[in-house]
Amino acid sequence: MTAAANKLASLTALAQRFAGDLSREVLDEMGAFVYATDMQGRYVYANPMVLRLLGRTLPEILGRTFGEFVQYDGDDEREALDRAVFQDGETIAREERNVIPATGEVRTFWSIKKPMRDAGGAVTGMVGVSYDITEKRRLEDELREQKALLGVILDNVDALVYMKGEDRRFRYANQHVAKVFGVPVEAIAGKLDSQLMPREVADRFWQQDQQILASGQRSVSEQALTGADGHTHHYWSVVVPWAQADGSRAVIGLSTDITELHELKEKLQRQARTDALTGLANRRHFQECAQAEFERSRRYGRSLSLIAIDVDHFKRINDRHGHPVGDRVLQTLTQCMQENLRGNDVFSRTGGEEFCILLPETPLPAAAELAERLRAHLGLCVALDDLGMKVSASFGVTSSVDEDERFDQVFARADHALYAAKDQGRNRVVCLAAGPQTEKDRAA
Ligand code: GH3
Ligand code: MG
Ligand code: MG
Repeated sequence: MTAAANKLASLTALAQRFAGDLSREVLDEMGAFVYATDMQGRYVYANPMVLRLLGRTLPEILGRTFGEFVQYDGDDEREALDRAVFQDGETIAREERNVIPATGEVRTFWSIKKPMRDAGGAVTGMVGVSYDITEKRRLEDELREQKALLGVILDNVDALVYMKGEDRRFRYANQHVAKVFGVPVEAIAGKLDSQLMPREVADRFWQQDQQILASGQRSVSEQALTGADGHTHHYWSVVVPWAQADGSRAVIGLSTDITELHELKEKLQRQARTDALTGLANRRHFQECAQAEFERSRRYGRSLSLIAIDVDHFKRINDRHGHPVGDRVLQTLTQCMQENLRGNDVFSRTGGEEFCILLPETPLPAAAELAERLRAHLGLCVALDDLGMKVSASFGVTSSVDEDERFDQVFARADHALYAAKDQGRNRVVCLAAGPQTEKDRAA
């Protein structure tokens, strides 16, 4: 037998001894590369996965080093680590990249290298186990990238985005949510809703969340929320149910800030019911209020009165002083009369120089008294004196009665009384209880 053959025979025996210590089946089936080397890094054992990787049989590799079969950039580093195992008796566990000889493909491994020792404790070689973690690493990289992408999207999308569990604790919130609550974004996850907003607000949101969790249906609604800065913002909120990986349930909310739109809508709604010159309710809004008040007065048996007002000879004022002065007279008249009204009286400009005052819970005598007070007050109104002219108005007063089926009937009666006041010489109040035949002149 040659020296080389002797060496091979002894190495083979060593390999068999090593392999005998472990179940061959386990080594073959564990899905890892398992090998052992002597102090020079020469194989004394390799499991079938290593042999398949190198494309060799066991006798072909025994006594030879990994480097003889595979060349790779990281060779020097790997050899330095191997030396740490041999010389310092260290166990090394780390990630390694190796090239696959058959395909030239670079793959990533999790490698554990442990010194083998003889009975006296001296290091005689090493045993190595490597798992191919290429796919796992690829998935981790992909996941990390997706998480980063999602983070960028969620923090830059112009909406509050959050996830809240069925325990009322936040699971996630983006930067916009953190800004509204006035806390760092890291401080939100794990917190109860009531720790981040006032109890009654948290309860209101939670009630809606519970409905979504119970029904499994998404909900779309408009919400108002006052932030840490004290400003109330309006949101268009879409909340969807979500089943978490651990089986628990949650809701995901996406709330877009629509404060500007909301304010614009409110402004338009306000404009639609307001007279631009005087700021009073316009005719349309007056009619809506009047209808509602009429129905309420009938339902609860309460009195409801109406005063119709028309400025006397207003055309003359315009003709003599010009339209802009006429406008100022209308504004001044409005202010003078408003000073004598209560909060729930509905004062409106129903036409050019025509006004109406709806008086809930006011019987006819009290309405007539008020009309007389307004008429007298206009004559004394200092602001009107400032305009350098005497301005008066005529007043028609009535109250709703059981026979009235619609508000129109009350309105027609007040108008009728107003025309009577004009007929009787203007600058007076005419009070009409019910029907033209019961008309009673209360002219001043
Ligand atoms: P009467 O005592 O019979 O009510 O006489 P009058 O002149 O007030 O009656 P008339 O209804 O003939 O005139 C109303 C005038 O009001 C006519 C119109 O030019 C004027 N007018 C209507 N709207 C406005 C407005 O917004 N501004 C101004 N300056 N004038 C208006
Ligand atoms: Mg008129
Ligand atoms: Mg008039």
